[in-house]
Amino acid sequence: MGIIHVLDEHVANLIAAGEVVERPASVVKELVENAIDADADQVRIQIEEGGLTLIRVTDNGRGIAPEDVPTAFQRHATSKVRDSRDLHQIRTLGFRGEALPSIASVARVELITSTDKSGLGKICVIEGGEVKKIEDIRTTKGTDITVRDLFYNTPARLKYMKTIQTEFGHISDYIYRLAFAHPNIAFTLVHNDKLVLRTPGGGDLLQTIAAVYGTAAARSMLRVQAEDADFTLFGWIGKPELTRANRYGMTTIVNGRYVRSYALQTAIVQAYHTLLPINRYPLVVLQLTMDPSLVDVNVHPAKLEVRFSKERELMKFIETELGRVLRGADLIPRLRGHQ
Ligand code: ADP
Ligand code: MG
Repeated sequence: MGIIHVLDEHVANLIAAGEVVERPASVVKELVENAIDADADQVRIQIEEGGLTLIRVTDNGRGIAPEDVPTAFQRHATSKVRDSRDLHQIRTLGFRGEALPSIASVARVELITSTDKSGLGKICVIEGGEVKKIEDIRTTKGTDITVRDLFYNTPARLKYMKTIQTEFGHISDYIYRLAFAHPNIAFTLVHNDKLVLRTPGGGDLLQTIAAVYGTAAARSMLRVQAEDADFTLFGWIGKPELTRANRYGMTTIVNGRYVRSYALQTAIVQAYHTLLPINRYPLVVLQLTMDPSLVDVNVHPAKLEVRFSKERELMKFIETELGRVLRGADLIPRLRGHQ
């Protein structure tokens, strides 16, 4: 008798959950990304106790068809990728088909969804990976998913959770980045019944920046727009007086996806060159567009890190274009009357 056997789906989901669902912010990320992939233009995120007791994401997107509802919670079940060729041309935020089954294996999930304007939809309740209920329901078009008691059945993971403020900090930070990546979407973020963020939607990036960093900050930002053979760049960069003590004020978005890239941050800082005080970093929101074949997002399940096949060229492009805007701006304060 051999000793090797294939793990059953529930155990496989729990293992995947260990990677995909690190903390409440990971759940928020996956659910909001699903809403974005469903073409929602209104997304409401309601959080309680840093996401440990409740995470609810409501969108007005496409919804899930009734016959797809059970499948959506199966492992590697996705509507976004069909074959291996699609992996080189990913245009959605999700594609692994791991989020819903992973989340449902470590929490109590209630999904209400409809693809239909007339309001016929499904409600599905799953707890710890076990389907408790799937029924017809009347609802509005879109998806409303509630995740309660995260990690209730994995106490070891629960023990690692930090304070409510820290967990919520991770959530709000990620929502800010998503809002910058999708200024066309009106985001509402509520924590313990308090409104934390409301972005206007409608597509104006500067207005979204104002909603996050305040109007004063938005007023002192410079517009960048450029393209070359491989890359397109659009965004707003803070004047050098608008600095921060850490790198978190630099948001880089690649093909609609917020990414953390040391290379991109380095290029930005180099563009400011001597304009920045030592150990200060600028406030920057950059949206980069390039052919999907030039960027590999399939590096890590959370997909925050990416690889660029033309990294050096991209860095040079950013440094040159931002440098041009900064040099062109009237940055040296002149004394009144001494033009
Ligand atoms: P992935 O996003 O990688 O495809 P998920 O497990 O996150 O995998 O979701 C599985 C599938 O469920 C998605 O491919 C999509 O078809 C559907 N889905 C999930 N959330 C939503 C939503 N908010 N609106 C519409 N469809 C959704
Ligand atoms: Mg997904």
